[in-house]
Amino acid sequence: FRKELNHVERLSLVGQMAAGITHEIRNPMAVVRGFLQLMREKSPSSLEHYYRIVMEELDRANSIINDFLSLAQNRAVKMELCSLHEIIKELTPLLWADANLRGQSIEVMLDEKVPELLLNQKEIKQLILNLGRNGMEAMDDKGQLVLETKCCADGVELYVKDTGAGISPAQQERLFEPFFTTKSQGTGLGLSLCLSIMERHSGKISIESEEGKGTTFTVFFPFAQTSQLHRNTAISAMED
Ligand code: ADP
Ligand code: MG
Repeated sequence: FRKELNHVERLSLVGQMAAGITHEIRNPMAVVRGFLQLMREKSPSSLEHYYRIVMEELDRANSIINDFLSLAQNRAVKMELCSLHEIIKELTPLLWADANLRGQSIEVMLDEKVPELLLNQKEIKQLILNLGRNGMEAMDDKGQLVLETKCCADGVELYVKDTGAGISPAQQERLFEPFFTTKSQGTGLGLSLCLSIMERHSGKISIESEEGKGTTFTVFFPFAQTSQLHRNTAISAMED
């Protein structure tokens, strides 16, 4: 209980900071990106390499800011009845491309019994990408990432398994803290965001890991309830 309270407290702190600076930073960055693109088109090809790096770094900064924003927007998001499997199928080519570059493989195992769930598609895409990328970043080449779904008694479980380095018990305690990272290029916001996404979905997220063997993240989605559908229609009506 104490750990959860801490997380909420931290999130609200992150939220206040993010809300204050995000918009102010995003606008000038969009302008910079636009002009860079124009300059790139008028520049000799010898500079293309530099432009690519500058644009990539700009996009990286942008994704950090977007993670910040999503973390800050801890409010009711629009949920829709949709297929988790469709989302996974849409993301597979993206993850596959990433894995392929690293010499890793991906396996997807979908349980046909999984029904439609009440989800925010954008958030669940982000969750799966975050977990998938973390898995890949923890593995060397020849590693294998598995995405698996299973229909259980009261909901659906999604497993993201890797054959990577594993996580020590001490680190497992801290994984979901905003800004906790062991990577030189990491933001430490990915899992924190995953946790808040699953809180909004009334779900759960847990880890099982063995050092030197690999890690499995288990994400639990409750079945859609009729009462939730009504409440959700109300939220949608408010937003439209
Ligand atoms: P980031 O990826 O930017 O470091 P995350 O919040 O996504 O931030 O992850 C936090 C930390 O948790 C990572 O730096 C890494 O140490 C650890 N971690 C997350 N997923 C895995 C995994 N699948 N295997 C090993 N370590 C992991
Ligand atoms: Mg990450």
